[in-house]
Amino acid sequence: MEYVKEAFETNWIAPLGKNVNEFEKELAIKVGSKHAAALSSGTAAIHLALKAIGVGEGDIVFCPTLTFSATANPIIYQNAKPVFIDSNEETWNMCPRALEEAFEKYPNVKAVIVVHLYGLSANMDEIMRVCRHYNVKVIEDAAESLGGYYKGTHTGTFGDYGVFSFNGNKIITTSGGGMLVSKNEERIEKARFWATQSRDQARHYEHSELGYNYRMSNVSAGIGRGQLKVLEERVAKKKYIFDHYKRELGSLEGVSFMPVNDWDEPNYWLSSMTLHGKVKPIEVMKALELENIEARPIWKPMHLQPYFEKYDYVGTNVAERLFEYGVCLPSDTKMTDEELERTVKTIKKLW
Ligand SMILES: *Cc1c(COP(=O)(O)O)cnc(C)c1O
Repeated sequence: MEYVKEAFETNWIAPLGKNVNEFEKELAIKVGSKHAAALSSGTAAIHLALKAIGVGEGDIVFCPTLTFSATANPIIYQNAKPVFIDSNEETWNMCPRALEEAFEKYPNVKAVIVVHLYGLSANMDEIMRVCRHYNVKVIEDAAESLGGYYKGTHTGTFGDYGVFSFNGNKIITTSGGGMLVSKNEERIEKARFWATQSRDQARHYEHSELGYNYRMSNVSAGIGRGQLKVLEERVAKKKYIFDHYKRELGSLEGVSFMPVNDWDEPNYWLSSMTLHGKVKPIEVMKALELENIEARPIWKPMHLQPYFEKYDYVGTNVAERLFEYGVCLPSDTKMTDEELERTVKTIKKLW
């Protein structure tokens, strides 16, 4: 409220202003990246990262199949072609072996997008090793993993570009917004230029490049600065929710929780489990629905989506099985112990 009030009092509502500059610096420090550009969404950040890499007409971009469509859509905005890569059981994220196989099939690939799904980190050592071997640029879609670390380093800072989202459903929000981070200052400056309609330096309006209206407003950035202060609290609450579910439901027949590897410190954005026993995911979702509690399946893989099914896919159907057997449980940080208990009780009754 203080930061937003300041934006009003100084009459810097939009487009830019102090909150935008400070939010960029604060987020960059928080995740340990050098430079950051505050944008209107995470999707816009992925789009500008692809553009910064030079992805264009007909280029191939590797993208995890198990993700939200916002990871893949910007590939199409650039008239490029996604090739969808399977997950592995160990991380639920991009499978390094399937990635290697895809490189053998498409050695001329232009970029790789890696996602840290539900706040669980992908196997970055392996993925970066393969991508560096082929000398291909990496974008990390860390929209769901702000506050999550891989081997002590913040997710979103391993690749050439990192993307964060402050959409309403993410761990912190600006009501809507995103951030592009990179070690490369010149590319981040270029992203800011594209995001403000590619206005050249001149007295009049001069444009030598295609532009976008992708900047974050000073009011939104004010919200973000306040939210950033509660990030650790939110991660702690998300972990509390996950631990509670795991303790109460983890030993039920057929239940496995999402994999938390030794090297991973997730933000536990969404608590998810798979059901391979007698109780089916649809039964859990329906039982919860009767109690007015929302639960959903795991992301439907992109290569099964009507819009994307014409693009190639490399893998062994791990993502398909996660979609078929997975359930995402209510994980909002505002949940009370009573609500958590009610959710757990409703599920347990099915066994
Ligand atoms: C939310 C999300 C995005 C998009 O972020 P927006 O800010 O909503 O545009 C991209 N990728 C993943 C994996 C997401 O969950």
